[in-house]
Amino acid sequence: MSDKKRSPLDIKNLSSETLGVRAGVRRTEFNEHSEAMFLTSSFCFDSAADAAHGFANAEKGFIYSRFTNPTVAMFQDRLAALEGGEACIATASGMSAIMTVAMAHLQAGDHVVCSRSVFGATIQLFSVILGKFGIETTYVDMSDLNAWQSAVKPNTKLFYLETPSNPLTEVGDIAAISKIANSANALCVVDNCFCTSALQKPLELGADVVIHSATKYLDGQGRVLGGAIVGREDFILGKVFPYVRTAGPTLSAFNAWVILKGLETLNLRLEKQSQSALELATWLEQHPAVERVYHPGLKSHPQYELAKRQQKMGGPILSFVLKGGKEAAWKVIDGTKLLSITANLGDTRTTITHPATTTHVRVSPEARAAAGITDSLVRIAVGLESVEDIQKDLSAGLGQ
Ligand SMILES: *Cc1c(COP(=O)(O)O)cnc(C)c1O
Repeated sequence: MSDKKRSPLDIKNLSSETLGVRAGVRRTEFNEHSEAMFLTSSFCFDSAADAAHGFANAEKGFIYSRFTNPTVAMFQDRLAALEGGEACIATASGMSAIMTVAMAHLQAGDHVVCSRSVFGATIQLFSVILGKFGIETTYVDMSDLNAWQSAVKPNTKLFYLETPSNPLTEVGDIAAISKIANSANALCVVDNCFCTSALQKPLELGADVVIHSATKYLDGQGRVLGGAIVGREDFILGKVFPYVRTAGPTLSAFNAWVILKGLETLNLRLEKQSQSALELATWLEQHPAVERVYHPGLKSHPQYELAKRQQKMGGPILSFVLKGGKEAAWKVIDGTKLLSITANLGDTRTTITHPATTTHVRVSPEARAAAGITDSLVRIAVGLESVEDIQKDLSAGLGQ
């Protein structure tokens, strides 16, 4: 054996395909090829002095898995590299990632400006839970830049958006909204769940923080829950890390390992699923039973140009309006045998859902109508099956 150590990998100039399978790896003395899963709650020290040094530098070493674990660290470092962020902290779920950013950054008396078309639980979190602690939220139409600007108050500390939106795939201008947030001294937070780093890089466009529900495309196979926060080191290590260390919304090592392996196929999956989604959207747009299709890759999408500038592809989600109302929408869903009837998304298997009576049922009928989520709308999150098989499955309920 030679004494010469291989010099460590410099990830600076590697492409995202390479980062997905190589970034963040830490090997033990055994030199295992696949990343190890560290199922341990705590870590030992060689001496009392060593322990004291470890606690004084908690963010650098491994002490206790509520805030430091090597498997979780590998996932964090890989995702930070993929998103082009300086640092990342993982959390137990997407919702706990959003909660963590809010708790780390806000205090009573602060104000939040949030896109109207975000995940339902996010609205509940801002309005009901944070509202109880004196944090006020104003909701705006994501595509109306003037609305973002005029919602700003002297105490505005955070902007929050999700693009493309669910289920209508509305696209928000990350660069323009970040600029407004920046000039208001507010943190601009983007939920990058639907595109992921494979198709969209909010930090490069000017956002301060990226949020993930790792439950969706990062795992990509519908197995575990997880979340993550990516951004600048001063925010992530200075504000987010101390909150997670103390409050404990921690990602488990097991879940981190599963999602870490999911990241290895992220680019492949998202590109394939986006391509299939566009093929399906194009087919549906010509179907006589369909009134309208929403997908950012279609020329008919109102923000097609913006999506083209900001995203690598249109994304894996599409929705469409049936001519025959709720009855026709349910008939398409009930006619399927292959697709999974579930409100979840981000799986290798295609899912189909009726937003008005499932994901958006807690929204008032007036608000639903205003948002364009009608009874005739069906959402599909495209998986890895062949487009032809998906088309056949949808055709049963579409007729013709
Ligand atoms: C699912 C989802 C969340 C919440 O994530 P969980 O992991 O379920 O807590 C947040 N944002 C978006 C866009 C989602 O789809």
